[in-house]
Amino acid sequence: MSRGTCAVIHLDNIRHNLQVARRHAPHSRIWAVVKANAYGHGLVPVAQMLAAEADGLAVATLDEALTLRAAGINSPVLLLEGVVSMAQTQTALDADLELVVHTMDQRHWLAEASVQQAVRVWLKVDTGMRRLGFMPAEAGAEYAHLQALPQVATVSFMTHYARADDPAHAMTPQQYDCLHSVVPAGCEASLANSGGVLFWPGRQGDWVRPGIMLYGATPAPEQSRDRLGLRAGMTLYAPIIALRDLVPGDTVGYGGGFSTDRPLRLATVAMGYADGYPRHAPNDTPVAINGIRCRLVGRVSMDMLTVDVTGLQDIGPGTPVELWGPHVAVDEVAQAAGTIGYELLAGLALRGRYDYV
Ligand code: PLP
Repeated sequence: MSRGTCAVIHLDNIRHNLQVARRHAPHSRIWAVVKANAYGHGLVPVAQMLAAEADGLAVATLDEALTLRAAGINSPVLLLEGVVSMAQTQTALDADLELVVHTMDQRHWLAEASVQQAVRVWLKVDTGMRRLGFMPAEAGAEYAHLQALPQVATVSFMTHYARADDPAHAMTPQQYDCLHSVVPAGCEASLANSGGVLFWPGRQGDWVRPGIMLYGATPAPEQSRDRLGLRAGMTLYAPIIALRDLVPGDTVGYGGGFSTDRPLRLATVAMGYADGYPRHAPNDTPVAINGIRCRLVGRVSMDMLTVDVTGLQDIGPGTPVELWGPHVAVDEVAQAAGTIGYELLAGLALRGRYDYV
C-alpha cells in the first residue's frame, strides 16, 4: 500500500507547453526531448502523448530509445548521445533510430552496418559547447564521407547552444553563424533547446529540441514559468503524517536547523531526500496546502520534511502537501536549494505513485 506520496503528471499541460514551443518556433519542426525518463515525468506515458503532437522524440541513450520502440512508439526517434560500439550502431539502425554522428568511429561503424533502407544521420558540429561534435573545420570533410556511404540517405546538421538561456549573450548568434558557415545549401539544421526556442527567434533552425519547457519549468531562472506562459507538468504531493504544536524555544529537525520564539503548528510530511526532494532546501522554501502557500522549516531528512502550518484550517493526517506544481514552481524550490529545475525533475526518486491525468 502506497504511503500516499504521488506525482500527478498533467499531460494536458505538457501538450500546452509543446504548443507554446510551436508558437515560438512556427517555422521549425520539433524533436520533443524525453530523455531522463521524460525529465522525471515517466518516459513511456509522456512519449505516447508527445508522439502524436511533436514531429519526433529525442532521447539520450539507446536504452531509452529501445524502451520507446518496445512500447510500440513508431515516431522518428533521435539518439542524441549517439552510439559507442558497432553492436550499438546495428541495434540502433535495426530500431530505425536517427543517429547523431559526432566521432569518426561512429562513421566507421555506420559504414560497416547493414540497413534495409538508407537512413538520415545528424552530423554534430561543436560550435562552442566543447562537449560533443566535430570542429567546424572538420565538418566539410565529414559531411562528404557520410554522404558517400550507401547506408546514408540524408545528412542533416546539429549543434547545441551553450548559453541560449541568456537572451542577450553574444554566444548564441555566434554559434548559429558558425553552424551555418558549414551547412551546405539544402541541408537541414537543428540547434535550439528550450532557451533557443523561447529567447532566440530567428536562430532556431529547421528542427528545435525543447526539453525543460515541455515540463513547465524555465530554462532561465530570471524568466519565470508563469511569465513564459508555461504550465506545470507535474504536481508532486506527499501527505501530512503527523501534526504537533511547538512552544517558544523549540528547535526542529537535525541540527536544530530551525528554532521558534513563538507557538507554532508543525506538520511532518512524507517526503525526503530519498525521494529526490533536495536536502539543501532551506527554511522558508515554499510548499502549498489546499492551494495556500506555506513554508518549510527545519532540515529535510531522508523520508520526511516539516512545514509551518500555523493558522491553516482543514488539515490533518493525510492532507496532501504540494511540494511543487501549480502553486509552487519547481524552479522556486530549485532556486532556494541552489540548483535548477532540471536537476530536481530528472532526479526524482519517488517512493510513491505516478498518476497521469
Ligand atoms: N538537445 C540536447 C543535445 C540536449 O542535451 C538537451 C538537454 O540537455 C536538449 C536538447 C534539451 O534542452 P532543454 O531541456 O534545455 O530544452
